[in-house]
Order: sequence, then C-alpha cells, then structure tokens
Amino acid sequence: RWDDIWLAGLRDTAPSTIFDEIISGDIPADVVREDEHVLAFRDINPMAPVHVLIIPKDRAGLTSLRKATAEHTNILGRMLLAAGEIANDETLGFGDGARIVINDGPDGGQEVNHLHVHVLGGRKMGRTFG
Ligand code: ADP
Repeated sequence: RWDDIWLAGLRDTAPSTIFDEIISGDIPADVVREDEHVLAFRDINPMAPVHVLIIPKDRAGLTSLRKATAEHTNILGRMLLAAGEIANDETLGFGDGARIVINDGPDGGQEVNHLHVHVLGGRKMGRTFG
C-alpha cells in the first residue's frame, strides 16, 4: 500500500552500503542461501576456511544490533537460525563447532553499517576476542 511504502522510506534514512548493492545484484557475491528476508554470502576476505555473512534484506532500523527494537524480533530470529544452520552445513567434516559473531559500532569493529552476522568455521578458534 502507498502509505506502507511512504513509511518505509521515512524509517530508512541511513546511508546505503555495499551490502545493498549485493542485495540488488549490482555487485556479485557468492551466495550461500537466500530467502525473502535474509541473504547469506561468503566474506570476500575470509578469516577462516568458512566465513559467511548473514544480512537482513531490509536494513531499516538495523544498521547495527544496538539499533534493533522489538519490531525486529522476527528478522533477528531468522538471522540466528540461519547462522546455526549454515554453521552446521558449512562445517561438515571440519570437527565440531563454529564461531558466530556480530561486530557492533566502530569500537566493536563494525565497518559496514548494515547488520550482519559472521559465521566462522573450519578451524579451531582461539580463546581471545582481541
Ligand atoms: P570487519 O571488516 O572489521 O570484519 P564488519 O564486521 O563490518 O567489519 O564486517 C564487514 C565484512 O564484510 C568484512 O569481513 C569484509 O571482508 C566483508 N565484505 C566487505 N565487502 C564485501 C563484499 N563485497 N563481499 C563480501 N564480503 C564483503
């Protein structure tokens, strides 16, 4: 409906990022899974044999996890379920475990201002969070 579209525009004033270009297909990505709500693709600069990013397709209010509100409950649940499933699928044959990370804000190491969950696996992770 026209008012939904108008309100969506009002809600979403954050500048777009490279992840919007991946969602739109303007730049290529190695997509692992996609549905109506989430997109998962391989990190271009992998920190482990498995390094997948999971992002919401609608980033409204979700430039970072700290901006999330109760209206994002559904998409946040979908992202975490996808993270667990992708961790299982992608680390088959690599032992038992993965690391699932969200960097939040500049001091949390977040560089792309579009919420994303990192799924890292395929090697044993160290104990530090540097
Ligand atoms: P950091 O770079 O410190 O991990 P983020 O948590 O914001 O910061 O993660 C952004 C991630 O997006 C990085 O791991 C980076 O390698 C990845 N990335 C950036 N551009 C692309 C791209 N075009 N395709 C896939 N991954 C990308």
